[in-house]
Amino acid sequence: MSSGDGLAAARAAVAAIQDLESGPEALNAFLAVADVDELTLLNADGPLAGVPLAVKDNIATLDLDTTCGSKVLEGYRSPFEATVVRRAREAGAVVVGKTNMDEFAMGSSTENSAYGPVLNPHDRTRVPGGSSGGSAAAVAAGLVTMAFGSDTGGSVRQPAALCGVVGMKPTYGRVSRYGLVAYASSLDQVGTFGRSVADSARLMDVIAGHDDRDATSARRLVPDLEAAAGRGVEGLVVGLPKEYVSRLLDDDMRASINTAVDALRDAGAQIHEVSLPHAKHAIPCYYVIAPAEAASNLSRYDGVRYGVRRPGDDLVSMYEATRSAGLGPEVKLRIMLGTYVLSAGYYDEYYGTAQRARRLITEDFGRVFAAGVDVILTPTTPGPAFELGERTDDPLEMYLSDVFTVPANIAGIPGISVPIGRVRGLPVGAQILAPWWQEERMVAGAGALEAAFGVGGA
Ligand code: GLN
Repeated sequence: MSSGDGLAAARAAVAAIQDLESGPEALNAFLAVADVDELTLLNADGPLAGVPLAVKDNIATLDLDTTCGSKVLEGYRSPFEATVVRRAREAGAVVVGKTNMDEFAMGSSTENSAYGPVLNPHDRTRVPGGSSGGSAAAVAAGLVTMAFGSDTGGSVRQPAALCGVVGMKPTYGRVSRYGLVAYASSLDQVGTFGRSVADSARLMDVIAGHDDRDATSARRLVPDLEAAAGRGVEGLVVGLPKEYVSRLLDDDMRASINTAVDALRDAGAQIHEVSLPHAKHAIPCYYVIAPAEAASNLSRYDGVRYGVRRPGDDLVSMYEATRSAGLGPEVKLRIMLGTYVLSAGYYDEYYGTAQRARRLITEDFGRVFAAGVDVILTPTTPGPAFELGERTDDPLEMYLSDVFTVPANIAGIPGISVPIGRVRGLPVGAQILAPWWQEERMVAGAGALEAAFGVGGA
């Protein structure tokens, strides 16, 4: 082990993770940590040379297990590597660990992990958000520079906000899903975390672009998002949806969002009120479509093709025993919900209605952007991090944590969350949404907010 091999930062990261996670301040952010002697640097001159990278545990890696936070995949080692991981490594990033998450990315607090919850580094009695809570906490605690998450309904942006870091979800199709374990395939995208807008943008720049292994990845020119972070917002037209200043937003959060609006105005943006009348249907729409897709995607965890097997007297009882023991309560709930909404006789009433709502929600965004609005500003979450256990008995309350983030997944548009200071001592974020394929604008807006509030929201 020479010191000039470009692995110093990654070695330090592994040591810091082991140190923190074995002590009294442990966050439980990691499900697997790389062996220091097996760290590999593929490119010493790339844009991510030597950067310690954490990978959410639903993204396939060759040298570390991929469990999705589930018992059903305990000990599962993927025979292939996700495209995003390969691209990051080819750019010089060094994978230092796999991060804890809500089981199969279903959740908003990381309390649905089969391996115990992640704690928020700003207040260990509170959740880090979810489902990519381990990745957000790892970046917030300074354990890694960058991290991957996945965002199906807000799972990158929401934990980024609650942990005081930057998280972005690209346009659906911007990034390959090859090697991202499928939850709800029409909504899933890989997203990036960084302490700064430039860091999360640099990682996104490396992974964006068409991949022959994912037919939904687009053949689109990849912008330079890192450069866009410093572009400024002079003349940018920012839409503020009037529906988002709703009863769900507490007074302190509203005050915080108003400071973000003022900051953008001071930086040269024009602020306009806009309307997204169908956004209020986003959560019910999502909780039909996502479980429907999940019920289908998760049928593969049957004790035959993947992961653990529990014996049974015949095939069906083996399936039942495996799935009963291997899957947690929220995952089972979603599978039952999804199976129900797709069942004969109910299909059109539920799934058909949700698809029609999806179109209306998407058309709202299209109309606002076509009228000359460049980006839309919203809070990322209704409030700051909640306490561990506070919402575990109330699924609806938990689902509403994503009320501001889910519409972007439904429409497929990109979004970023950036810290804008504190509410009652805890970090909160603003979300900037952009039209399809216009990530540069949202990154420019996030850069302006970061310039006003400081990295981490100060
Ligand atoms: N909280 C939402 C859910 O449970 C979104 C999760 C995600 O984006 N993966 O489905």
